[in-house]
Amino acid sequence: MLFYRQITVLVLFFIILFLFLVPDQRNIFFILLKGLALGGLIVVFFAYANPSLLKSKGSKDKKDNKKSFSADYNQYSSVIKDSYNQLISNSEEIITTMSNDLSVGIYIHDDNNGDYTIQNKITKNFIDVIDSNNKIISNLIDKKKTQIIKKQNDNNAWKELLIEKTWRGSEAIIAVPIIYKDFPIGFIFVFTDHFSNIDPQYQLVFEKVSQIITLGMRELEEFEKLIIANNFNSKLTKLIEKLDFKSDNSEFIHSIKGLCRSFFEYDKLTIAFSNEDHLEANIVSVDGFQDDINEGETFKLKNTIHGLAIVDNKTICSNSWYEKFPEINRFVQDDRDLHSFKSILSVPIRVNGKSIGAISMERIDSKIFSDININFLESLCGIFSSEIYLKNEYNKVHLSAMNDGLTGLLNHKAFLKRFEEELNRANRFNQNLGLIVLDLDKFKLINDTYGHLYGDFVLVEVSKIISENVRTIDVVGRYGGEEFSVLLVNTNIDDCIPMAQRIVDKISKKTFLKDGIASQITISAGMAGFPTHADQLTNLIKKADKAMYETKSKGGNGVTISIE
Ligand code: GH3
Ligand code: MG
Ligand code: MG
Repeated sequence: MLFYRQITVLVLFFIILFLFLVPDQRNIFFILLKGLALGGLIVVFFAYANPSLLKSKGSKDKKDNKKSFSADYNQYSSVIKDSYNQLISNSEEIITTMSNDLSVGIYIHDDNNGDYTIQNKITKNFIDVIDSNNKIISNLIDKKKTQIIKKQNDNNAWKELLIEKTWRGSEAIIAVPIIYKDFPIGFIFVFTDHFSNIDPQYQLVFEKVSQIITLGMRELEEFEKLIIANNFNSKLTKLIEKLDFKSDNSEFIHSIKGLCRSFFEYDKLTIAFSNEDHLEANIVSVDGFQDDINEGETFKLKNTIHGLAIVDNKTICSNSWYEKFPEINRFVQDDRDLHSFKSILSVPIRVNGKSIGAISMERIDSKIFSDININFLESLCGIFSSEIYLKNEYNKVHLSAMNDGLTGLLNHKAFLKRFEEELNRANRFNQNLGLIVLDLDKFKLINDTYGHLYGDFVLVEVSKIISENVRTIDVVGRYGGEEFSVLLVNTNIDDCIPMAQRIVDKISKKTFLKDGIASQITISAGMAGFPTHADQLTNLIKKADKAMYETKSKGGNGVTISIE
């Protein structure tokens, strides 16, 4: 494509030059030429002013992926390129040192345009690019065998191989295919002025050279794989170093997406997590094609190719999944033919061996994801899985650090933190807050009479009664040994009274029965409200505490509201 574009710009340049140099003439040819130059200039102007205008969306996404891949890869690819060039020039040298009459051209298939390109131009005889439809080439591909092609059996194909010159008629080419993975990916063409110069040994040597090229390429491919794997691993290490299980997932998912862009070629990337019921999955991130489904949307796990890796808990890799699974869709009913993605690589993300999500890559073309791709994505999902596991563990530990071990209520510190947050919120939204401080009456007596373990049982039961008699939005804490605290959110002090009274009554009516021991206990409550009694946290606590002691002084088992 670039080649044609360069030619077009050159032609345009010469037309304009011509129009400048030749005096103005009023014939149809000149008018046409002027129109052509003007049209060309307009197209060039638009192409530079807005490059995306001339590109289709799909191909842009695809190219972007490739670009970011080569950006990482460039520094290593030059080493491989040098080794490859060395391999080619060594091979040519072997052939040309055999006789002065021989000139050589080594051609390799170019994936970009499908033609065969000369790898190292050491002779003027051969042309740079040979069309893949060339008859000699087609014949070599069919037979996969060395052939001697004589000029005297002239055909057009000969001219497409060699630079035009005065032929003697005795010229010949020895054509040796270069076979790679059972397929002729290129050819060695050896040209001689006279077919009688061809030594019977030549063919054998040339075929050996072809084998050397094949072997060299195979080694370079392995080397390339190693380099890419190394690069990938070092990126993974960096990702692991950056892991912070205290931070939220979005940054991590962003890094994963970046890695995928650098190392994989896809048209769509989807990262999804299954819901708790394991029936649907939420899409947390997509890259590439977005016209079908996007971030934040859900899809059913059953009967979808995107749900399959999660349901089956195994890697799915296919370049014709729609044939293999004729009964399933991509994300939703009947969408398999809507956007024809033919290839998929989908790897589950697991926690404790159970699949909880998947990273999936799709290609529109039927081009299978390689073993390296599978390895990389599985490693990436492995890291993702450990990150989620660590995050869960951290949350558990964090939770246990916040909660009291005996009753499970928020501990003193955590309660104060929540209190502060709720107070800020109440301030911001002009809401009321009610604080109840509760202290068991003569609890020491329970311990002294029935033992510490029984005392613990009573504390647990009391904490349950308190929690069961407030709303889920309210905050309950174990403030000290046998002291509890309750924060009634968005409630004015008058509405707090019945709630506090209910807790006090329930406790006094309860018989605490364990291992044949039955006892009863009462509790004293004190209350202060925001903003009625104070607007500062410490003052609210002080006032509620004071009110609670007021209850105690009246014999306990009651509720007192701060009087100030
Ligand atoms: P008052 O009516 O004045 O509040 O008297 P009280 O006995 O309830 O108060 P005091 O502060 O004298 O005693 C509190 C007791 O609570 C003493 C302590 O051993 C006990 N206690 C504190 N934490 C725990 C605990 O986790 N388990 C058990 N079993 N007892 C505890
Ligand atoms: Mg106490
Ligand atoms: Mg007490």
